Amino acid sequence: MKTNAIVEHSIPGYKWADPVEGQYFSVKVSGTDLEVIGKYPTFSTEADDYDIVKQFGRFSQQFAIADNTKERSPGPDFANAKTDKDLIAFVKRFGPVVARQVKMVQSKSVVPYISAKQDMEELRCEQRIFQAALTLVECMKDDHPDEEILVDLIRTIAEGIEVWQIQWERQRSEIHPYSATWELREESLARIRELPTLKGTLHKRDVFLNTCVLDGRVVICELLNAFRPLIFPNASEGNLYFRYGIRPLLFSTLRHHFLYPQYLGICQNPTCRKFYKITRAEKIYHQETCSRKHRQRLYWEKVWWPAP
Ligand SMILES: [Zn+2]
Repeated sequence: MKTNAIVEHSIPGYKWADPVEGQYFSVKVSGTDLEVIGKYPTFSTEADDYDIVKQFGRFSQQFAIADNTKERSPGPDFANAKTDKDLIAFVKRFGPVVARQVKMVQSKSVVPYISAKQDMEELRCEQRIFQAALTLVECMKDDHPDEEILVDLIRTIAEGIEVWQIQWERQRSEIHPYSATWELREESLARIRELPTLKGTLHKRDVFLNTCVLDGRVVICELLNAFRPLIFPNASEGNLYFRYGIRPLLFSTLRHHFLYPQYLGICQNPTCRKFYKITRAEKIYHQETCSRKHRQRLYWEKVWWPAP
C-alpha cells in the first residue's frame, strides 16, 4: 500500500481541465463544433474520474485482481463509440480529442476557464482512426488474420491521418511552437502512402498476407511515434502537451495495448465487435448476451443452410 501511495503522489495528473461543476466538462453544440469548457486544472490527486492516464492505470491494474467485466478504459471506450451521442459523452468525460481552437477565459473565481472548440467531423474522423488502429492491433494477435480486413483497417488509418499535418500547423500557429510536441512527419506519411498493401502491388496470397501484417506494424509504429512519450518538469507544462486535445494520451494507451495485447479482447460476435477487458483466457465475447445471440445465429444458419 505504501508503494501505491508513493506512485500516486509522483504522478500529478493527466487531465485536460477540471469540471466547472460536478463530474463532467460542460459541452454545448454550436453549429458543427462542440464548445467544451473546464477550469484550469489543479492537479490534485483525489479527483481522477477525468484523468485519462489514471483511469487507464486502474483498468490495467484491476485485470490481475478482479473479474470485473464492467471496468472501462478510455481507449476502448473511444473506439467503441458508435454515435455522436457516444462521442459527446466521451468529450464530457475526458475533454476534446483534437481542439480546433483553445482560449483561456477569466472567470469570477481566481482560476481561469479553458474553452475549446472541437469540430464534430474531426472528432468522428479521430474515432474511426483510433477504432481501426485498436482493431488492427487486435487482428495482428491472430496467427492467420483476414488480409482483407487488415487492408481495410490500414486504408482507414492512412486516409484519416492525412489531416494531421494541417492540425499540427494549426496548433503551432495558435500557441508557442514548442508546445506542439507531437508530430506526424512528412517522411512517415509518405512511407504509409507507399505501403505495398495500399498500392496493391503484391499478388501471391502468402506473400501478401505477410506483407499486410508487416504493413500493419509499420502503420501502428508510425502512429505511436507521432506521439512520443515525453517527460515534463511540472504538471502545467505537461498540460500544454494535450491542451489542444487528449489525443496524445489516447495514443499512449494504444501503445500499451500494442505492447501488452493480452489485456484487451474484441467481441467475436460479428454484429458487435466491441472491445473489452479480458478477465479469463477463454472469454471471447464482451458480454453473455453476445455469446448467446451469436450461438443462436450460427445454429439457425446451420438449420437453414446445412452443409452440402
Ligand atoms: Zn459483444
